[in-house]
Amino acid sequence: MAIHLISDLHLSDDTPELTALFLGTLQAWQGQLDALYILGDLFEYWVGDDDDSPFLRDTLAAMRAFADKTPLYVMHGNRDFLLGEGFARASGARLLSDPHPLVVGGARYLLSHGDALCTDDTAYQQFRAQSRSPAWQQAMLARPLAERHLIARMARQESEAAKRQTGLTAISDVTDAAVLALLDAHGWPVLVHGHTHRPAVHVVERGERQTQRWVIADWHDGQGGYLAIDGHGIGAHALP
Ligand code: MN
Repeated sequence: MAIHLISDLHLSDDTPELTALFLGTLQAWQGQLDALYILGDLFEYWVGDDDDSPFLRDTLAAMRAFADKTPLYVMHGNRDFLLGEGFARASGARLLSDPHPLVVGGARYLLSHGDALCTDDTAYQQFRAQSRSPAWQQAMLARPLAERHLIARMARQESEAAKRQTGLTAISDVTDAAVLALLDAHGWPVLVHGHTHRPAVHVVERGERQTQRWVIADWHDGQGGYLAIDGHGIGAHALP
């Protein structure tokens, strides 16, 4: 048995192939794992637990069926940070705070979405601080559902236009300073995160200290990936 970790699927009603891959993967893994961790941005956007989009009904039902057999954990990403208790009930998932420590076979891991580590993007960090406040979230969730969908679509168009202009820039990657501060605060576990869409394993060193930083692959163009942790260690795998 093993623990599998995925992130950055960015599922929406525009991603039927990836949604099918996710549902098939849940079916294949159901009852076969110790746990599945989804480390943020499972959804391209989340406008509130009252969203009744048709694609969500199948997805949440599949998660619920999976969670009946296998522990399922979900962390907020920067796109789906409004996932709430209604989502947790509907999906059978338990919501995790970020970062989340995990010990497997005596080895220590620290799980995070990763957006909080991109500290060169000061405009985003300001928005992050604001949008994680209860007051901001209550005001957003009080808006009519159709208006929240419109706001999410506009935010998505803006972010896609910005990406087309600048491509993958350094500003959207984690900074050494933020990674080292997080490792110092938690005693240098193996760091696992997503968000940056730069799947890799990095060695992090300072003085006598050394650890690894694993970046989970995002899902795109009908293809996915995951990390597996068991008593022997951690490794990256492709899907399907
Ligand atoms: Mn993200």
